[in-house]
Amino acid sequence: MASSSSGNPNPELRKDPVWNRWVIFSPARAKRPSDFKSKSPADPNPNTTCPFCIGHEHECAPEIFRVPPDDPNWTIRVIQNLYPALSRDLPDPDPVTHTSAGSVLAGFGFHDVVIETPVHSVQLVDLSPEEIAQVFVSYTKRIQQFATRDSIKYVQVFKNHGASAGASMSHSHSQMLALPVIPPSVSVRLGSMKDYFDKMRKCCICEIQCEDLLIDSSTYFLSLVPFAAAFPFEIWIVPRYHSAHFHELDAEKAVDLGGLLKQTLRKMSVQLNNPPFNFMIHTSPLHDHGSELAYSHWFIQIVPQLIGIAGFEIGTGCYINPVFPEDAAKVLRDVNVSKSG
Ligand code: AMP
Ligand code: ZN
Ligand code: ZN
Repeated sequence: MASSSSGNPNPELRKDPVWNRWVIFSPARAKRPSDFKSKSPADPNPNTTCPFCIGHEHECAPEIFRVPPDDPNWTIRVIQNLYPALSRDLPDPDPVTHTSAGSVLAGFGFHDVVIETPVHSVQLVDLSPEEIAQVFVSYTKRIQQFATRDSIKYVQVFKNHGASAGASMSHSHSQMLALPVIPPSVSVRLGSMKDYFDKMRKCCICEIQCEDLLIDSSTYFLSLVPFAAAFPFEIWIVPRYHSAHFHELDAEKAVDLGGLLKQTLRKMSVQLNNPPFNFMIHTSPLHDHGSELAYSHWFIQIVPQLIGIAGFEIGTGCYINPVFPEDAAKVLRDVNVSKSG
């Protein structure tokens, strides 16, 4: 368990069993944790004309479904991405071709956008737990559609909020990329969770002991700063029950998750000055071998963009985090935000 916490002046290296990668905690590089407020807060609504706003549906790529179905007063729309990274129009992919230069596969896949609200000025954090739950349920519904195809191996759900977190559109939205391959970080994560399971006969996420790292909890979920957080104020939202696949989330748990995500985002916004952030849903491959289900446990990673990554990180795959996780957790735990606001 964590050996260091507030006030430790010495650097320390940590590795957790999920990513199995060293992180250098280097408090000498930090100011106080409370000085990490974003200097470029995410501007929620600079666009004047926006294709994601209600009434502008004709400016978007085709719709896949909306909530409620067929309702002109929609609350959520799942649409095709106008500039997709992969093409849904290609035939299901050929087998991989191996050449002396490397391997090649046709760029088949799906790249969708989830418009989380009809109103331009409303952000995800402004929605009610029930409305956020509808966004999660929309992801699960779309993933279930992808799961009917053998050629789609993994679905990455992610959100970019704010220009320096990579967002090109300010209207609240997230994205889903359905891939014909299992991405390398998913293979690494599953491999290290399997190693832990083989040694301990337990799932490493079910085993998280997080008193010093806890931010909040709800009936079914915990929010916490991970033991070897790669980024300052990185947050995980973790199911308290064992589950390999995010898309098995049911409606009751989705509302519980919506409430905890809202509360966590509000805390991050208050303490870090509405920072740009990314969130990623880390789940399991669609067509898993049954054995993966025992050690693979889905979770959401939230990364506020407070410091950039540079040569050291690119060169080594190690990260330098100036804020000890226990200190970040305390900053986020100790602020009071109302659950409904
Ligand atoms: P981000 O860049 O993270 O803000 O995500 C916005 C996504 O919306 C980008 O991937 C764009 O390709 C996509 N996009 C932009 N305009 C449209 C549009 N009119 N219809 C559908 N997708 C769009
Ligand atoms: Zn808009
Ligand atoms: Zn578990």
